[in-house]
Amino acid sequence: MRSLSKAVTLTLNLALAACATNPVTGQREFSLMSEDKEIQLGQEQDVQVRKEMGVYADRAMQQYVNDVGLKLAQTSERPNLPWHFAVVDSPAINAFALPGGYIYITRGILPFLQDESQMAGVLGHEIGHVNARHSARQYSRSTASQLGLIVGSIFVPQTRPFAQLGESGLGLLMLKNSRDDELEADSLGAKYAARAGWDPDGIPQMLTTLERIAEASDNRGVPNWMQTHPVAEDRVQKVQAAVRDAEQGATKFTVDRDGYLKRMDGLVYGDNPNEGIVRGETFMHANLRLAIEFPQGWDVTNGQSQVSAKEPGQNRLMVLEVVQRPVGRSLQEVALRQMEGAGFRPVQGGRTTINSLDAFVGEYVGALQNIGRVGIRAAHIAHDRSVFLVAGIVPYQDYPNVEPVLTKSIDSFRALTRAEAEDVHANHVALYTAHRGDTWQGIAERAGKGIVKPSTLAIMNGHPVNEQPRVGERLKIVIPG
Ligand SMILES: [Zn+2]
Repeated sequence: MRSLSKAVTLTLNLALAACATNPVTGQREFSLMSEDKEIQLGQEQDVQVRKEMGVYADRAMQQYVNDVGLKLAQTSERPNLPWHFAVVDSPAINAFALPGGYIYITRGILPFLQDESQMAGVLGHEIGHVNARHSARQYSRSTASQLGLIVGSIFVPQTRPFAQLGESGLGLLMLKNSRDDELEADSLGAKYAARAGWDPDGIPQMLTTLERIAEASDNRGVPNWMQTHPVAEDRVQKVQAAVRDAEQGATKFTVDRDGYLKRMDGLVYGDNPNEGIVRGETFMHANLRLAIEFPQGWDVTNGQSQVSAKEPGQNRLMVLEVVQRPVGRSLQEVALRQMEGAGFRPVQGGRTTINSLDAFVGEYVGALQNIGRVGIRAAHIAHDRSVFLVAGIVPYQDYPNVEPVLTKSIDSFRALTRAEAEDVHANHVALYTAHRGDTWQGIAERAGKGIVKPSTLAIMNGHPVNEQPRVGERLKIVIPG
């Protein structure tokens, strides 16, 4: 009863009521979302995902993933959804889906898959989430205020500094799936893969790799698969029955390891320097010729329109962005117009220089939807014919304590020299055939100049970390530049 009355309230708020049939189970389910609404929500959020995460600029790769995805989707319970598959330009290891048939796979997960059947497994798993309406159901369960966050920005639309704080909206896109939903998506993925001709064994194989990543990871930074897909040690076990079911009657499946490896050759690995790179708490952007140190221990996220840093476990944030179309004859005017336009009241401020760059640094107070009353220290810095905003935003009562940390970070903003800018390169995946006596350690040091850890190389090539490559084995390695 309680959930029903809550649902009714939500219905009134959102006017998207429907009782829909679950396409996978065939059962009627109380869901707030009709298929049309699912598609509409997917379309809207797709714009946001593409804008904030960016799409990997490799048409052949996009086409490849889309072809595999569509083939899988055609064998599924909802072949007529407007399916879209895209590789997002993120170094994180993840895949996610929006209601209505929008599926994303990160550039970062691709080198960790061994063959096409494993990639089909990842895509099939996400198709399973869409078809079983897992995310649609979760959106329905979310509170109205959360939904507001998904759809809108928390910021004043005209000026929108800190637009990406609305990326907590993106965080919500990556709603955590329940354990049961995960197991169901694994099984569905195995079914679709086998029906479309790929070896369903690709699913337990890729799950094994993802488990190894979780075990080896030091939990730094990247929002990865494990945060949105809870670890279940027995997922590999649990999916076996579905894999055997899926194998029934079929004699030959596609794996295509060689074809897959060829496509990985040259893939960008890690941060893409055209979008700026994060090294620990340092952010560097070669094209914009700038660098900044965020506070020690904060998680730095490099978004499409903004770089943000957050202190773990706290509502303390810093952002760096270009001021779009600055208005004003002086830096002070630009700063005050932007901040006041966004609803922040200046408390004090003045002209200064930061590492020889002209700047206006001010203190402001205001309110943010999720945090409440905030204190802000913001620098508007002139550099290379643009105005950059670096701002620290913290709950008002924290401000006096945190202010020195914010100031230190703001004061670290500097121009990169030409030589430094030219030295910021992307790393790439390359192929390598293992020789007698090769170890992950040796390959990592020699070919990769220590860019990736030996354990990462092992996992990337489908091995447990304590198992060395076989002689003659074709390997993915990471090389600089
Ligand atoms: Zn999942």
